[in-house]
Amino acid sequence: QSQELSQVQIDYHAALQALVEDGTRMACTGRIHTDRICRFESLCYSTEAEEFVFFHSNASVMLPNLGSRRFQPALLDLSSVEDHNTQYFNFVELPAAALKFMPKPVFVPDVALITNRFNPDNLMHVFHDDLLPIFYTMQQFPDLDLESRLFFMEGWSEGLHFDLYKLLSNKQPLLREQLKTLGRLLCFTKSYVGLSKITTWYQYGFVQPQGPKANILVSGNEIRHFTKFMMEKLNVSLEESASEEYIVVFSRTINRLILNEAELILALAQEFQMKTITVSIEDHSFSHIVRLISNASMLVSMHGAQLVMSLFLPRGATVVELFPYAINPEHYTPYKTLSTLPGMDLQYVTWQNTDRENTVTFPDRPWDQGGIAHLDKAEQERIIKSKEVPRHLCCRNPEWLFRVYQDTKVNIPSLIQVIRQTVKSKPGPKKQKWTSGLYPGKVRDAKCQASVQGTSEAKLSVSWQIPWNLKYLKVREVKYEVWIQEQGENTYMPYILSHQNHTFSENIKPFTIYLVWIRCIFNKNLLGPFADVLLCST
Ligand code: UDP
Repeated sequence: QSQELSQVQIDYHAALQALVEDGTRMACTGRIHTDRICRFESLCYSTEAEEFVFFHSNASVMLPNLGSRRFQPALLDLSSVEDHNTQYFNFVELPAAALKFMPKPVFVPDVALITNRFNPDNLMHVFHDDLLPIFYTMQQFPDLDLESRLFFMEGWSEGLHFDLYKLLSNKQPLLREQLKTLGRLLCFTKSYVGLSKITTWYQYGFVQPQGPKANILVSGNEIRHFTKFMMEKLNVSLEESASEEYIVVFSRTINRLILNEAELILALAQEFQMKTITVSIEDHSFSHIVRLISNASMLVSMHGAQLVMSLFLPRGATVVELFPYAINPEHYTPYKTLSTLPGMDLQYVTWQNTDRENTVTFPDRPWDQGGIAHLDKAEQERIIKSKEVPRHLCCRNPEWLFRVYQDTKVNIPSLIQVIRQTVKSKPGPKKQKWTSGLYPGKVRDAKCQASVQGTSEAKLSVSWQIPWNLKYLKVREVKYEVWIQEQGENTYMPYILSHQNHTFSENIKPFTIYLVWIRCIFNKNLLGPFADVLLCST
């Protein structure tokens, strides 16, 4: 059997006795099902029932202990896609004593990460929903190291990109179907269930039209830390030397074609005076594509999952995303959002075909490749006449599929023009810069002193020291923001100041208590925290 679990020998009788006596133990992070990840000892899985099993004994632990809220709607999301009702995780409960009547458990000695892949045949989904979240879930829990094992429970076969999943750990990932060959009752000695969503940047439109996530928590730094890991595993080394600059056209060969690709390549080469090469998933190995993209100056491609490969581009490179007729680029932004994450340092350009004569439609294809022949005539006509696909939910909108699977003859002058608007000189990669993006600490030792002149005039002198971290930094511009608020009022007077002290006299009344808020600002937009509020009485 090639699915041999491990060379690690475990004492079977000791393991069985521990399971019977201690039962299952669970402790989770996260407050609701959409941000929960659970760590288990002795979580079991019945391959016949296709259910996870929690065994209760005197020593078992279940935190959080949600009672029936565990089913409202689930304990946690098994994939990184938020609250998708096909991706929920739960277990059934049994007393540990029931083990006497059950198949003999087979113990899994490896530390396990148990998750669902979302759509393993689509490269965007592979990276965004699975690889990045798995990588960072493993970073979050130190015992999920390279010797741990991935278990994919969504029920798919390996899929087109299984080799990429294999890079994340030294052990062969196991699929749900394969668990049957291991035994009828599997017990995971130590396992983690669920996936971190902290790196995802896009929501696919299940409850509202697709778009960037509301609260993006990842930056280019974490993306590049992940791509560096992947490149090391793929044996692709970053060429530091200033070799020849070039443009990569990532082509699709099955559908959503660029009809005048040869002409496009010639035009790009001529305009930017660079070698221009094409790659496609169908014709090139993954490491070949990564090697080329990781040194490219520009990546040009039709909208589509292959564009997720811009995560391998060097800083300063340009992403050019082409959209077919009637597809509004503003409505489909997974790759724009990626390219413009803080610290990705990519330039992003979009071009859309606005010329009906340059599009080729396929009304007679199957519905999932954009065919519309199954719709009634009036609807077909409406779609064909329409100039823009209205916003819609995922995933089977026929008008969207019809338009997104068009082939396109690219209007070369208009494309070159939009690229030139963003890329003024050469589009080449730029050297890394490290100094940007550090925030100031609190200002220190803030003090105020009041003076009253007569019955109607007063002054407030406020001073403070620089944030502690400033003395170790080179910062282009340091400013201070001061808010002066009369106690009990909702409004305040804001000031931007260059020095570490200031005397306020406008609108300052005698015999009044003021609250003074001070923070430091680096380079106009890096706002630090406010120091503890100062109470100043005139
Ligand atoms: N794909 C490809 N060449 C093609 C058509 C598709 O490489 O001519 C890849 C595509 O990059 C994705 C997968 O096949 O990884 C599924 O493509 P689909 O059109 O369904 O999804 P989309 O690219 O619109 O996300």
